[in-house]
Amino acid sequence: MEQELIELKKRALDKISKIADNKSLKELFLDLLGKNGEFTLLIKKLKNLPKDQKPKIGQLTNKVKQEIEQAFIDQENKIDSSSSDQWFDVTTPGIPPVVGHLHPQTQVLVDLIEIFKELGYQVADGPEIETDWYNFGSLNFPKDHPARDTQQSLHLETHGKTSPGEIIMRTQTSAMQVRIMEKTSPPLRIIVPGKTYRYEQVDASHGFEFWQLEGFAIDRNITLTDLFGTINYVLKKIIGENINIRFACTNFPFVEPGVDTYMQCLACSGRGCSFCKKSGWSEIMPAGMIHPNVLTAARIDPVKWQGFAFCIGLSRAVTMRFGMDDLRLLVNPDLRILSQF
Ligand SMILES: [Zn+2]
Repeated sequence: MEQELIELKKRALDKISKIADNKSLKELFLDLLGKNGEFTLLIKKLKNLPKDQKPKIGQLTNKVKQEIEQAFIDQENKIDSSSSDQWFDVTTPGIPPVVGHLHPQTQVLVDLIEIFKELGYQVADGPEIETDWYNFGSLNFPKDHPARDTQQSLHLETHGKTSPGEIIMRTQTSAMQVRIMEKTSPPLRIIVPGKTYRYEQVDASHGFEFWQLEGFAIDRNITLTDLFGTINYVLKKIIGENINIRFACTNFPFVEPGVDTYMQCLACSGRGCSFCKKSGWSEIMPAGMIHPNVLTAARIDPVKWQGFAFCIGLSRAVTMRFGMDDLRLLVNPDLRILSQF
């Protein structure tokens, strides 16, 4: 019987190692170790053995059974691992990737640039660190002019290389006006989108860092109605045909006459809210005819040439277009907010 057990083991291990699928493996298991399996029938003969042989053969039987069972387990693992390497269901739905989109501010900026390009404007870029001259002086803001108080600027430390307050973070993209006029000659149609900085108390409609889009046109015989037409056209294109706009006379040092553009607040439809400071209207765009002193600062003859300039509060235009009631949402990185626009 010892020989029979050894031969059975040899045959069984050989057969098990050649099986490549679980179904056949299960069948073989039953053929060998099932109720009427080959091995089961063999060990039934154990009881007929002489008494002195029983312990030795009994031990061998257990050993052979363990080895065969282990061989089944090993082969099953082998089949499982090889099948997972070689096969997968190509029809299983995948995980959809998260697709981002442009920030609402970038969307409006891209649209504005397109609209102005249609009107024949060119796009310029300029430094965010600016001199007092280009930011204020050249734009007809004398050193002691009270209008400077409305644009509290952030001064940069230059360690004695310039006098205090000479180098600042630009408070307006208008700082590029004279820079461009100096390098080119009229007729000009320019827009300057960019970031600006002021020492501001942050609230729903004010930030200390915000975007503006400066624009100006210089040509012969340009009038205030050209400015009104341009503002009206651009704002309706960018925010919507049904908006209400009004102009009010105001004073800015760099324009004469100066106008302020107000748009009926879209957050409250003119009823009054925290965004429009309960007035129902929101200031969106200071503008006016370029002051002769500014043209003179850029060595352009104000008798021959006239121009208008405007400055769109870009961050504010974005909140208006999308009906946001707080400017601070634009710098909030929470995707639950941004994915809505
Ligand atoms: Zn409002």
